[in-house]
Amino acid sequence: MSNEINKTYNPKEVEERLYNTWVEKGYFTPTPDKTKEPFTIVIPPPNVTGQLHMGHALDETLQDILIRYKRMAGFNALWIPGTDHAGIATQIKVEEVLRKEEGKTRYDLGREKFVEKVWEWKKHYGDRIINQLKKLGSSCDWTRERFTMDEGCSKAVKEVFVNLYKKGLIYQGSRIINWCPRCITALSDAEVEHAEQAGHFWHIKYPVKGSDEFVVIATTRPETLFGDTAVAVNPEDERYKDIIGKTLLLPLTDREIPVIADAYVDKEFGTGCVKITPAHDPNDFEVGLRHDLAQIKVLNDDATMNHYAGKYEGMDRYECRKQMIKDLDEMGLLVKVEDHSHNVGQCYRCGTTVEPIISKQWFVKMNSLAQPAIDAVKKKDTEFVPEHFEKVYFHWLENIRDWCISRQLWWGHRIPAFYCDDCGEMVVTKEDGAVCSKCGKPMRQDPDTLDTWFSSALWPFSTLGWPDKTEDLSYFYPTSVLVTGYDIIPFWVMRMMFSGIEHTGEVPFKYVFIHGLVRDAQGRKMSKSLGNGVDPLEVIDEFGADALRFTLATGNSPGNDMRFSTERVTASRNFANKIWNASRFVQMNLTIDELCVPAASELALEDKWILDKLNRLVSEVTENLDKFELGVAVAKLYDFIWDEFCDWYIELVKPRLYDTENPTNKTAQQVLSYVLSNTLKLLHPFMPFITEEIWLSLPHEGESIVIANWPTADDALSFPAEAAQMEMMKGALKAVRNKRAEMNIPPSKKAAMFIVTDHTELFQNGAVFFQKLASASDVTVLKDKSTVGENTVAVIVDGAQIYIPLGELVDFEKELKRLEEEKKHLLGEIKRVEGKLSNKGFVDKAPARVVEEEKAKGEKYREMLQKVEESLSAFQKEAN
Ligand SMILES: [Zn+2]
Ligand SMILES: [Zn+2]
Repeated sequence: MSNEINKTYNPKEVEERLYNTWVEKGYFTPTPDKTKEPFTIVIPPPNVTGQLHMGHALDETLQDILIRYKRMAGFNALWIPGTDHAGIATQIKVEEVLRKEEGKTRYDLGREKFVEKVWEWKKHYGDRIINQLKKLGSSCDWTRERFTMDEGCSKAVKEVFVNLYKKGLIYQGSRIINWCPRCITALSDAEVEHAEQAGHFWHIKYPVKGSDEFVVIATTRPETLFGDTAVAVNPEDERYKDIIGKTLLLPLTDREIPVIADAYVDKEFGTGCVKITPAHDPNDFEVGLRHDLAQIKVLNDDATMNHYAGKYEGMDRYECRKQMIKDLDEMGLLVKVEDHSHNVGQCYRCGTTVEPIISKQWFVKMNSLAQPAIDAVKKKDTEFVPEHFEKVYFHWLENIRDWCISRQLWWGHRIPAFYCDDCGEMVVTKEDGAVCSKCGKPMRQDPDTLDTWFSSALWPFSTLGWPDKTEDLSYFYPTSVLVTGYDIIPFWVMRMMFSGIEHTGEVPFKYVFIHGLVRDAQGRKMSKSLGNGVDPLEVIDEFGADALRFTLATGNSPGNDMRFSTERVTASRNFANKIWNASRFVQMNLTIDELCVPAASELALEDKWILDKLNRLVSEVTENLDKFELGVAVAKLYDFIWDEFCDWYIELVKPRLYDTENPTNKTAQQVLSYVLSNTLKLLHPFMPFITEEIWLSLPHEGESIVIANWPTADDALSFPAEAAQMEMMKGALKAVRNKRAEMNIPPSKKAAMFIVTDHTELFQNGAVFFQKLASASDVTVLKDKSTVGENTVAVIVDGAQIYIPLGELVDFEKELKRLEEEKKHLLGEIKRVEGKLSNKGFVDKAPARVVEEEKAKGEKYREMLQKVEESLSAFQKEAN
């Protein structure tokens, strides 16, 4: 016999001890093995400065469920953990600390010192999130832990940059990019969030040179006027045919600009005249290229005006806007101001309104990379779960612009491009400290760093050793599933896809399993400003990791958001306690010390029933897990354990269990431990700690449930006919109990019972259950009710009628009323079924099986109604 478990479950004591053992034993550390099939997940690396929030807790729980399931199912399961350096996010955090604690900026420290500071920060906080992942029970292989800026990942980044540059897929160019004037850096399109904002259309007159004519343009950003290098009209626009080629006097400046014709201009929109500012608008930029216009940038990096703004130089963009509008108005050049709500881009890190601005940056050419990534999903090389998220993926890839990858930040992978300040030579190389091949002078490295997503795009293969041809890479790649939220499909998923295909020739993962957000109990997003966030670590501390994991898995369906509440965690903890108490009961009644498959010939009806149920549970849960229906799987486990196993089977089996002389006592023990042990295995991926603690205390084979074999359905233990019989008896037991409860008769008040049924043998054998579970004193099973006396209350269920002589116990009026209500209910059901069956649409469209089921239901209701009517008339006789 194994060690006895404690009276109550104490997660704190159990979790750390078990987790350390698992790590020490190396259960999470697979080695490549050609005889086994690999199953690989790479963790979406949490930001190094972050701490575990509910979104991570969900993400990691889902991954751990899949990994633990596959490990038990015989796969060589590898879950690679790690963290992301998170360029912009981390830099901002460290800068904030620097400002608060030392009153300094990063420029005060200088690049080298500042970067050192960020590394210190990383050492401190990088471990924090890792420890939190462990607390959750994540079965990651910590020997393979990675960081996006570690040596290997840095090597991969350089390799990719140089390769793409050589292929002409990385280039340097002046393009319109999104500029955050607060973070002082370029952003990619994916890093800009769009929000509807109330603004204005300012209608401004531009005088035609040498006449008193003028054109009117409308703009939402009047301060960019200083960068105008033309006004464009549609060549088809009759209104403006005459002024094409004329010269305009640009207000508030001494510059003159031409009127050009370009089909890009929409005649119907605004005045039909468009100011062209090539340095501050992506469309104007293209127009400018077509017409060879100058590109005049009027903003400094911090969004103050530069010298092109004349007397407004040095003003902030919005201050300048206010002042110049006032001046234009005074000059009579402001025609009108219209309210206008428009879509404004904001920095995803700091919320500042971004400026589209021309800037010399590094870009990845996207067209040739995007197409294979689109094709791969179309061909189902990679599948989204749920499928409809591929639309988001296609939308981004099909409309993609070149990816701006350079960032004016200090924290990150430095761009491996070097310049010779003497002769202007530029080289892109993996080597550090290049020397100019033309003049032999040392070269200066590009000061910019790469978009943080440039390195995370390589994560599925850089973590496995790429560009080296490692054993891990050839065995564990491509990975099996990527588990992530829908919000980072454009940032991350699609970039991993095209990077994987381009650099390894294979898609990086077979499935992308998308989950939603964790919302609060009212369905609101958890956020700092609302103060409604729940700290997963506090939940673990109070309720245990299993309760948190179980809560997150319950109700989870791919792609959908979920709600989190303390009530739900409490319910999960209660479930854990229920399992614990039931297991303790089983354990205390076991005299056998070996786990074995019970022999079919010795099984009682209730044994066959629970074994048959277990078989179905095994098949269904396995199928659900394979289809990523984790919420469905966990609900089935909950129902089985709570209802079938604890509330029914244990109660049904107690008489045999207490009767140690009973020859079927041993069988009962075997079935109890067999069912419990297998159920614990099924539950293990969801609740790893409590299942291990109990499993080890029961008869078991092997050293840990973590590496135990996943259960499979056993045909020898499939008893559908007996299971159906038991269900019938369960129905009768439940009905009698409900009836007695309705009549407020305490369980201690025993009463005789007459069971009228065609299934006499079944109920004869089940008499003991009616005594133990339904407060029966004597049970008489009859073929017909002729010998049942008058003055009884009838309980009518499918397959049996149970009559209980009530004597003085019953309130006749009430009983009469109840029967009448039952009659009404059955009539309603019959009407519903008949309505359905007379509906041609239903009968024609529904599968034949469903129609048959409805017909059978109708038959059953009619039979029950007949019995109720018989009782009613008997009762009415009595009452009169
Ligand atoms: Zn910003
Ligand atoms: Zn040179």
